[in-house]
Amino acid sequence: MSRPPVRGDLSALEGYHSPQLDVEVRLNTNESPLPPPPEFIAELRDAVARIRWNRYPDRAATALREGLADRHGVDPGQVFVANGSNEVIQTLLLTFAGAGRRVLTFEPTYAMHSQIARTSGATVVTAERRSDFGLDQGAVTSKMDEVNPSVTFLCSPNNPTGTVDPPELVTEVVERSPGLVVVDEAYGEFAEWSALGLLGEEVPLVVTRTYSKVWSMAAMRLGYMIGPRWLVAELDKVVLPYHLDAVKQEAGLLALSHTAEMEARVAELVASRRLLESALNRMGVDVWPSQANFILFRPRRLPGGDVWRGLVDRSVLVRDCSSWPRLENCLRVTVGSRSENERFLSSLEEVLTS
Ligand code: PMP
Repeated sequence: MSRPPVRGDLSALEGYHSPQLDVEVRLNTNESPLPPPPEFIAELRDAVARIRWNRYPDRAATALREGLADRHGVDPGQVFVANGSNEVIQTLLLTFAGAGRRVLTFEPTYAMHSQIARTSGATVVTAERRSDFGLDQGAVTSKMDEVNPSVTFLCSPNNPTGTVDPPELVTEVVERSPGLVVVDEAYGEFAEWSALGLLGEEVPLVVTRTYSKVWSMAAMRLGYMIGPRWLVAELDKVVLPYHLDAVKQEAGLLALSHTAEMEARVAELVASRRLLESALNRMGVDVWPSQANFILFRPRRLPGGDVWRGLVDRSVLVRDCSSWPRLENCLRVTVGSRSENERFLSSLEEVLTS
């Protein structure tokens, strides 16, 4: 028997790789080092016991959408929820990209934007960030005029650089966009400003968020998006029926009643990030100023791949970006707990001076 052929446009795709090694200090996937509060777990246990297990969940996730709308001061009809912000992005791309359409990304950025765009059948056009990883306003808008993209991705704070796109730039991109602009704010709560304030019913802009980072709920796979009502109605046609299970809907809503604890965790991680940044600067590595829960850095004297290996030998795992285009020799470290950060710093010091 012969194997059925995979779609021709998919055969060149490599898939998303994020190696997971068995180490003591795991600082490679930008998760929170801090669990949600114990009260949240106890409340979720009770909520799970009340679920009517023989019935499908609320297809519209009404209560969760209302809770998120309340948190952001928008209408529930402006909120779309899905299994992680990756699924939000996938639904957006199935709706607005696809065969015969172009998607524009500014590299280096989160690899799944282009990966999911390609699986939707769209053509991905990549443009460059500046060497400080900011975006040049003139270059961005002329690229948009040239490419005429159906979807343009911004990512703020940007993964893996940690850099934030300023309000003037996002405003200009949205005004000049011939299609939809997606601002991926997976790390939005760590940053000093959000594009949420630019949203409007006739503005071609959506902002995506996730429970995976600031809400300490990466295990749950829950993300959401805020945008125009008409656009959410289109996404609701594309996403599978009952895509969001009842446990997730309960958990997402319950988490919102622990917003103060989330904000305290975010403040703690931002303070730790500042300490890490200063320590890295003192070690004489190149550091890009970050507004997320991770830091991109480049050891100057040793190849990035060797430093990554030296850290793994000391049971510390960071993300090795050293062979990625435009990120030669760079590594990305997630802000961990105080003891994890100390262990990372002392291990790095050893590697750099050995
Ligand atoms: N956007 C960015 C910029 C990310 O870094 C990530 C996760 N690494 C995601 C989206 C996907 O997050 P989720 O867990 O919500 O699918």
